[in-house]
Amino acid sequence: ERLSNDFQFIEVGRCDPDKVPARLRKKEFGEIYKPFKQERAAEQSHRCLHCGNPYCEWKCPVHNYIPNWLKLVSEGNILEAAELVHQTNTLPEVCGRVCPQDRLCEGACTLNDGFGAVTIGSVEKYIADTAFALGWRPDVSKVVWTDKKVAVIGAGPAGLGCADVLVRNGVKPVVFDRYPEIGGLLTFGIPEFKLEKSVMSLRREIFEEMGIEFRLNTEIGKDISVDELMEEYDAVFMGMGTYTYMKGGFPGEDLDGVYDALPYLISNANRRLGFEAQESDFINVKGKRVVVLGGGDTAMDCNRTAIRQQATSVTCAYRRDAANMPGSRREVANAKEEGVSFLFNRQPIAVIGEDKVEGVKVVKTQLGEPDGNGRRRPEPVPGSEEVIPADVVLVAFGFRPSPGDWFESQQVATDDSGRVLAPEHHDFPFQTANPKIFAGGDMVRGSDLVVTAIAEGRRAAAGILDYLDV
Ligand code: FAD
Ligand code: SF4
Repeated sequence: ERLSNDFQFIEVGRCDPDKVPARLRKKEFGEIYKPFKQERAAEQSHRCLHCGNPYCEWKCPVHNYIPNWLKLVSEGNILEAAELVHQTNTLPEVCGRVCPQDRLCEGACTLNDGFGAVTIGSVEKYIADTAFALGWRPDVSKVVWTDKKVAVIGAGPAGLGCADVLVRNGVKPVVFDRYPEIGGLLTFGIPEFKLEKSVMSLRREIFEEMGIEFRLNTEIGKDISVDELMEEYDAVFMGMGTYTYMKGGFPGEDLDGVYDALPYLISNANRRLGFEAQESDFINVKGKRVVVLGGGDTAMDCNRTAIRQQATSVTCAYRRDAANMPGSRREVANAKEEGVSFLFNRQPIAVIGEDKVEGVKVVKTQLGEPDGNGRRRPEPVPGSEEVIPADVVLVAFGFRPSPGDWFESQQVATDDSGRVLAPEHHDFPFQTANPKIFAGGDMVRGSDLVVTAIAEGRRAAAGILDYLDV
């Protein structure tokens, strides 16, 4: 009777899954959100209004059929919901965990007008996790195999999105990655408290059962040349991400104790996963005063990893104010709860120290005129310099593309900032200047999100299928 109530959203408020209390979770790396129980998932799904023109679907980069699977969950029909969510999304269990829903699907929910958006992300995670636990697997039994095969460079969300669509259409994907596990930044960047590593290893098994082949620990351009791939395969997809670290361009950046964010996070992931080559590769901030520079997702992950490694203190300095932080609001709130101190409107101008870090010199900023992206530019306030004492500085200023050595010989064109030119609106979407090579994800759009990388990988696969005429 309760489930037949169309006004459920009035009686039942938005309720997120339970969180492990901050005092406990800051001592461990496990995921902080507990799974939804069946009843809670059904109740929360039933809050959906089933809008005629669902904005959530439009705002979701893979255009998930959100109200339809919410309805299935409210009826307890999880396996059908799993089938449906996999029609549009390659990694629903991952997106449910790491999408900034407040800026995407949930941000567009009509119930934001005073009632609180439907917990779309948590339900998506619930669908996939529950279906897998029940033994559900994507059904590829009706796939008619062609004789075509495609090399996918990079097992991040873009490469996986592409391989998923190819295999469902009978084209054999062989995915190469230089790392020992699939996932790209999902495994080696995003820490376990947001996305537990067993999620990706289970997904690898599922993909392998579907017919996707992975060749890990294999770097293209080093272990295998692109020329070989071009000869052996009918097409090539590149989803290689962005791995050139942005620098601040101020004195002291090379001092002992200053680390780029990603090597820090990767060293922690390698230790946790048992992939560490030698003990000295591990960057340990236990007992250190840590200053993190930046305000995006990467900075938040550094903050919270440092807390879990038992840093004495963690201070995050960001040059704009809280409202202008690019990181997910949910993760900023989680970082605060776990004990990270935020210093807003502070621009670093130097790292101080003799032969190792002793502090970071910052200047206060005020927001000036909007820049080219419409975001207000931070301007230094003269005479407001101060030094934040530090033993370790983690620099999280973002990433630039890292074009492959072979781009020129293969006529793969890039723009001035190194992003691969692979237009979405093209006869064959995401085709590069070399007709046989397609590309998507961060290396095409610049550092962005997991779900946009998946969306591009999937659309590029559709372009490849057209190009191969299958
Ligand atoms: P990647 O995930 O970078 O994958 C590229 C893969 O290509 C890697 O595995 C790499 O090893 C492989 N590769 C590269 N060159 C070669 C080669 N020559 N041979 C073989 N393999 C190669 N997004 C969110 O939506 N939510 C978040 O919470 C979030 N948090 C983030 C936290 C951090 C610390 C970082 C760095 C990013 C975060 N992002 C987040 C962004 C998101 O992870 C990326 O946008 C997304 O992973 C990009 O996917 P991709 O497939 O294009 O590239
Ligand atoms: Fe929302 Fe991301 Fe899921 Fe789309 S993929 S419905 S944006 S959580």
